Parts: sequence; C-alpha cells; structure tokens
Amino acid sequence: MESAPETSDPICPLCLRTIPAGVPQSRHHLIPRLKGGRETVLLHHICHKEIHAALTEAEIARDYDTPEKLRAHPRIAKFAAWVAKRPPDFVSRTPGGPRRKR
Ligand SMILES: [Zn+2]
Ligand SMILES: [Zn+2]
Repeated sequence: MESAPETSDPICPLCLRTIPAGVPQSRHHLIPRLKGGRETVLLHHICHKEIHAALTEAEIARDYDTPEKLRAHPRIAKFAAWVAKRPPDFVSRTPGGPRRKR
C-alpha cells in the first residue's frame, strides 16, 4: 500500500528521480576537487558512475560543471531517459540490459 512518494527525499539532478534513503548514492563534485571545486550534488550511485564513465575530469571541469550541462551530454541524456523509467531504488547489476540476438 504505497502512497505518493515522499517529498522529503532528495532529488537526483541527473535523472530527476527521488533518492530514497538506503539506495546507493554518492556525491559528485560539479567541478573536480583538483580544480578547486567545492560544490557537490547528491546523485544515485549509478547516475554518478555514468557521469564518470562518459566524461573525464578535464571535460567535467571545462564543459560539464552543472547538472544541466551533464544532462545535455548525449550519452548521459540517453542514460537518464533510460533510468528514469526504473524505480528509484533500482540498482544496476547486470550491465548490458536485456539480451537480444548477438
Ligand atoms: Zn539519478
Ligand atoms: Zn563525480
């Protein structure tokens, strides 16, 4: 008997879903610490991993220093659209998704 989602849960700025307590989550430096960045955003851990899989620290520092810019990246945009259809506590275990013919 689930009711409407809790509004007190933080929102992941990458996929715009809530981040319920207990799901893997981590903080991302919008500007890498090496470059003196201090501001962090809380993300689902899988969303955070996607950022670093798609971009290098140098690219993040130069071109992707806000959640809006990250969401505009083609690979991350695709990921966000995909993960947005999953429940908030979805945790990726098997990379590759549904099996198709090879
Ligand atoms: Zn997310
Ligand atoms: Zn990060």
